[in-house]
Amino acid sequence: MKREPSTAHAPSYYAASAHPQPLRPALDTALDVDVCIIGAGYTGLSAGLHLAEAGFSVAIVETARVGWGASGRNGGQIVNSYSRDLDVIESRYGVDTARALGSMAFEGGRIIRERIARYGIDCDLKDGGVFAAITPNQFAHLQKQHALWQRYGHTRLQLLDRAQTREVVASERYCGALLDLSGGHIHPLNLALGQAAAFESLGGRIFEDSPAIRVERSFRPVVHTAHGSVTASFVIVAGNAYLGGLVPELAARSMPCGTQVIATEPLGALADTLLPQDYCVEDCNYLLDYFRLSADKRLLFGGGVIYGARDPAHVESLVVPKLLKVFPQLANVRIDYAWTGNFLLTLSRMPQMGRIDHNIYYSQGCSGHGITFTHLAGRLLAEVLQGQATRFDAFAKLPHLPFPGGRLLRIPFTALGAWYYDLRDRLGV
Ligand SMILES: Cc1cc2nc3c(=O)[nH]c(=O)nc-3n(C[C@H](O)[C@H](O)[C@H](O)COP(=O)(O)OP(=O)(O)OC[C@H]3O[C@@H](n4cnc5c(N)ncnc54)[C@H](O)[C@@H]3O)c2cc1C
Repeated sequence: MKREPSTAHAPSYYAASAHPQPLRPALDTALDVDVCIIGAGYTGLSAGLHLAEAGFSVAIVETARVGWGASGRNGGQIVNSYSRDLDVIESRYGVDTARALGSMAFEGGRIIRERIARYGIDCDLKDGGVFAAITPNQFAHLQKQHALWQRYGHTRLQLLDRAQTREVVASERYCGALLDLSGGHIHPLNLALGQAAAFESLGGRIFEDSPAIRVERSFRPVVHTAHGSVTASFVIVAGNAYLGGLVPELAARSMPCGTQVIATEPLGALADTLLPQDYCVEDCNYLLDYFRLSADKRLLFGGGVIYGARDPAHVESLVVPKLLKVFPQLANVRIDYAWTGNFLLTLSRMPQMGRIDHNIYYSQGCSGHGITFTHLAGRLLAEVLQGQATRFDAFAKLPHLPFPGGRLLRIPFTALGAWYYDLRDRLGV
C-alpha cells in the first residue's frame, strides 16, 4: 500500500537536493531481532551498519524519516576530535583517559571516508577544514591545539598566518587559522541516506513514521510503537536531541539546543573567490559561526545557539548579520533556504555513552560537533555488543553531570554562562 509520509524533512537546501529515497514502511507488526535501534540519524545508522556487517539482525525505528534530525540538516563539516580539547580532557579525567580518547579522536572521520568509498555514497565529499581565529588569543590557542593534536599523532595540520588565511577565506575577519587537511565537508543528508541504503542492502530494516513510545525493560527488552513492537536482545537509544522523555535518565543530564543555517542562491564564480580551495570554515568563538560551499556553489552559513531548542520565527534575520560580518561583499545575495535543527548539549561538552540495565545502550550529546563522533560511536556500540567493551567503556566511565538549576533553571543558567563567554570573545580576552 502506498503511504504518504506524515513527517517531512526540514525545509533545508539538503532536503531540496537529496537523492531520491524510498518511502519506508511504518512498523505495524511484532518483530523479533538481535538489536533494535531507536533513531535513524548517524548514531543509529552507523551502529546499524556496523552490526549488520557483523551479521546481526537489526531493526531501526524512526519517528520521522531517515536523517530527519540533526544528521540530515547540519553544517556538513567533518570536524575531528571532540567538543572539548584533549588537554582539557587530560586535566579533567587524567592521562590514561586522554590517551584512550586521543587514540580515537580521528577515527570517526576515517570511518566516514571508508563508508563513502566502500558503498559508493555520493555525498559531495571535499577535503580540508579551517579553524579561523578572530583574535590573537584565539590564534595562540590554535597554536597550542596544533602542538597538542600532533602529540596525539595527528600530523595533517598547517598553521596559517593572516596573509595565508586570507588566501583560503576572502574575509578580513580572521588573523590566522589552523588548516586540518583530514577535515572536510559533505552533504549530510545524502551521507545519511547512503548509509541507510547500505544498511538495508545487508538485510537491515528501517521503519519510518514509527516513533518508539515505550521501552519495556526486561530480560529481552521490547520497543513499542503505536502499531507494532520490536523484541530484541539489545536496544540502542540513538534519539539524541529529539528523544524527549522516552528514557528519563537520558533527558535529565542533557539539554537540546537549536542552531540555524541559511543557504544563499548559487553564487557561480563569486563562490570561488570566497573560498578558493573549497575548504569548510568554523571560527573559534564560543558561539561559533560555520560556513562552506555546497556542490552547486551556494554559501551555507550557520551560527548562533538557542538554549532549550525553541524554533526561532525568523532564522534568516538571525543568521544574515553574522554572514555579512564575514563576507560584506554578499550584501545583495538572495537567501534561498533557512532552517533550524537541534543538537544535544551536555554540561561537560563530552558525549554521553553508557548502559541502562545490561541490555539497553545509548550514545548522545556530542554538543555541536557530532558528525565524526557519531560514526565512531556506531563502531563502539557494535564492538560492545560483540563483547569488546574496552573502547566503549573509555567513554562510558566519564561522569554524566546534571545541569545546574535542574529542568526549570538549566536554560537561563546555561544561557548566562554562554553570554559570559560570548562577551569575552567580543572583548577579545
Ligand atoms: C543545524 C546543525 C548544524 C550542525 N553542524 C555540525 C557540523 O557542521 N559538524 C558537526 O560535526 N556537527 C554538527 N552538528 C551536530 C551533528 O549534526 C549531530 O551531533 C549529529 O548529527 C547527531 O546525530 P544523532 O544520530 O545522534 O542524532 P540525530 O541526527 O538528531 O538523529 C536522532 C534521530 O532519532 C529520531 N528519534 C528521536 N526520538 C525517537 C523515538 N522516540 N522513536 C524513534 N525515533 C526517534 C529522530 O527523529 C532523529 O531522526 C550540527 C547540528 C545541527 C542541528
